Amino acid sequence: MTPEPIPVLVSGACGRVGLHVVRAVAGEADMHLVAAVDRQRVGEDIGDIAGITHLGIAVTDDLAAAIDSARPRVMVDFTTPSAVKGNLHVALKKRVACVVGTTGLSPADLAQVAALCREQGTPALVAPNFAIGAVLMMQFAAQAAKHFAAAEIIELHHNQKQDAPSGTALKTAEMMRAAPGSLLGEEPAGADDLPSRGQGAGKIRIHSVRLPGLVAHQEVIFGGLGQTLTIRHDSISRDSFLPGVLLAIRRIVTLQGLTYGLEHIL
Ligand code: NAP
Repeated sequence: MTPEPIPVLVSGACGRVGLHVVRAVAGEADMHLVAAVDRQRVGEDIGDIAGITHLGIAVTDDLAAAIDSARPRVMVDFTTPSAVKGNLHVALKKRVACVVGTTGLSPADLAQVAALCREQGTPALVAPNFAIGAVLMMQFAAQAAKHFAAAEIIELHHNQKQDAPSGTALKTAEMMRAAPGSLLGEEPAGADDLPSRGQGAGKIRIHSVRLPGLVAHQEVIFGGLGQTLTIRHDSISRDSFLPGVLLAIRRIVTLQGLTYGLEHIL
């Protein structure tokens, strides 16, 4: 017997990434788009907005009411750093599993989300980057951290991005510091601790570039005796995030608690 399609609500459905997620979910046989939440284009049909087909799903700005009436099993959130915490609270309290791409959640926010997941017995997956190539970049950078005692990160994004440094850069630095045998642990910054030298705790500085024309790009540059190593990933289109998002929708219901990072389900 074919399993029932997974009912999915997209929050931030009219945003740059949200519209890609709407098109992708609507095109998958084992998923069913049941609701679209956004502050923009309220009342309009999400299928019309996404340029696919009329879906009979009006955009609403009331997440709680949308969950009550559409009964999604999974919420996908690509909203804003200021909206995501509230959305997670509403969805988890209503026992809707959450797949979150929105960046800007602090370690304290993540701890609160983990506690809420435990309390409600409902899983959440938060991934600062759903592009599989970006996850590999982070893993390769963590591997190189055992061999180089100096590294900096340059992250480059479109100029509408609301947070800096990017969640991907912060997570990369965290993975590089935490790698077994890392030479880039939590040491105080050196004598070149100048405000213009980028942000970041310990040895790894992060530089943020924001320009029109960019999507999401990152370079991790390692420096050693007579050599440098650069690991670079480019999301040249927002389609790059979709395979990871679809995988997370399929896998989230088998997880427990909070999962932070796509690498845990690859
Ligand atoms: P965007 O184009 O600004 O889209 C966000 C949408 O969410 C906007 O339409 C916004 O409306 C809406 N919104 C704001 N508050 C809301 C709420 N409470 N409920 C529902 N919708 C709400 O942003 P984006 O470029 O798509 O990026 C969205 C987020 O995903 C950002 O945090 C970005 O850094 C992150 N991101 C993550 C990945 C990843 O792989 N994890 C990849 C790309 C982007 P208003 O315009 O009225 O605020």
